[in-house]
Amino acid sequence: MTELNIKSKSGELTTLSEGQIETFKTGFNGTVFLAGDSGFDEARTIWNAMIDRRPALIAQAQNADDVKRTVDFARENDLLLSIKGGGHNIAGNAVCEGGLMLDLSQMKSVKVDSEKRRANVGPGALLADFDREAQASGLATPLGINSTTGVAGLTLGGGFGWLSRKFGTTVDNLLSAEIITADGKTVHASETENADLFWGIRGGGGNFGVVTNFEFKLHPFGPNVLTGLIVFPLDQAKDVLAKYREAVKTMPDDLNVWVVLRKAPPLPFLPEDSHGKEAVILAIFYSGDPAEGEKLVEPFKTFGTPYGQFIGVQPFTAWQQAFDPLLTPGVRNYWKSHNFTEMSDGAIDTVIKYVGELPSPHTEIFFGLIGGQASRVAEDATAYSQRDALWACNVHGRWETPEEDKKVIAWAREFFDASAKYASGGVYVNFMTEDETARVGSAYKPEVWKRLVDLKTKWDPTNLFRMNQNIKPSA
Ligand SMILES: Cc1cc2nc3c(=O)[nH]c(=O)nc-3n(C[C@H](O)[C@H](O)[C@H](O)COP(=O)(O)OP(=O)(O)OC[C@H]3O[C@@H](n4cnc5c(N)ncnc54)[C@H](O)[C@@H]3O)c2cc1C
Repeated sequence: MTELNIKSKSGELTTLSEGQIETFKTGFNGTVFLAGDSGFDEARTIWNAMIDRRPALIAQAQNADDVKRTVDFARENDLLLSIKGGGHNIAGNAVCEGGLMLDLSQMKSVKVDSEKRRANVGPGALLADFDREAQASGLATPLGINSTTGVAGLTLGGGFGWLSRKFGTTVDNLLSAEIITADGKTVHASETENADLFWGIRGGGGNFGVVTNFEFKLHPFGPNVLTGLIVFPLDQAKDVLAKYREAVKTMPDDLNVWVVLRKAPPLPFLPEDSHGKEAVILAIFYSGDPAEGEKLVEPFKTFGTPYGQFIGVQPFTAWQQAFDPLLTPGVRNYWKSHNFTEMSDGAIDTVIKYVGELPSPHTEIFFGLIGGQASRVAEDATAYSQRDALWACNVHGRWETPEEDKKVIAWAREFFDASAKYASGGVYVNFMTEDETARVGSAYKPEVWKRLVDLKTKWDPTNLFRMNQNIKPSA
């Protein structure tokens, strides 16, 4: 190799000399990959198989010095830069075509201080890494529902999961962060230092810099929880969802129940003839005393006549991985999402109609219940501002072959359009696909959006960090 053609920020090709690349590599603690190098393909691969991009150069960082070096190199050479944490984001912005990709996947450390109930977490850590280390000390913080998701991307968009009704969103539990900003400075952000930046990274995504360390608050929790599934036939969904909607109104924060509508998976507690049939599934999580939980969960079993149910006590870390088999990487995925503040009859009828016409065996629509403590935080307290979202609804198109692309994507868009009039108009930024750049503002309340644009203009005026759900700096 003598020189390398690589994309600049504007999308034009520019050239790096061999000397420039060698200088970049010198002193880099991690690995720098070019196309064809062993490890290149692994580093560029992300969860959603719809995204198959080839960066010109991949910098796989070992530490914060490597991150700073990469940010400086991108800025000085005006390069298109993308940042990969856990590589889970549906939009696929972690990997750029023809530019420079900063891969943080090796920076996985999770250090728990059990006395102070705090954790310092690297930007390559996955939820499983965090949960495992925190639970080893009997502690936890709210994260998502699929253990192979990256802590970094999840946190930067807000983050919610089973524990959010009890302990708030992930960002409500973030105490501080170390960030390499567009000018290559290392900045510490918390409520008392660079508070504007700290506000912005709690929901504003990777727009303001590369986070190299997250410091979280932890709560005594676990190790066991009452969890499980109740699976009803789809023809009972209207009644089941109407009763569920009523139950949510008085549900304690310790209880969380998500709704998943899909073909029944071949679970051992379901009769064989229900496998593959359309179903409405209540996924149940109780974070208090299991005996108390049993009593609270009992009525849900009577919302209809279930195909089957399995509710039991299991380790929290096991439940955090319970959905992994349905969410494995390497499959084609397309999502459409919006938030709901109520589940109206119209919304229920629409979802039932579309689940009756599922375009592939793995496709599902879920309503992730939030509310509780997550909704008691002021709308402008963090950039994650959709505090009125009682449910984040996600239409999760999931299929195996390119031949099915058109059919599944069209179905997802049609359901989204048909259900939009019952939704709040807001959306969770972390559930947005790559074709939704015009909708980024909908992820934030209007006042918050204005503040985010000002913050972007202050911290990244040339939009170095643009491979994300982008907040453009004002001209
Ligand atoms: C199967 C599945 C289940 C999910 N479940 C939940 C859930 O229960 N709750 C929930 O809240 N979300 C959930 N999500 C959404 C998830 O929060 C986002 O996909 C999130 O972006 C994943 O983070 P990541 O680090 O893995 O992603 P990546 O694709 O690596 O990163 C996403 C984006 O974040 C930015 N970024 C990443 N790391 C950094 C960093 N260190 N500094 C600056 N910017 C950075 C980049 O812009 C990047 O493009 C789920 C996603 C999937 C695919």
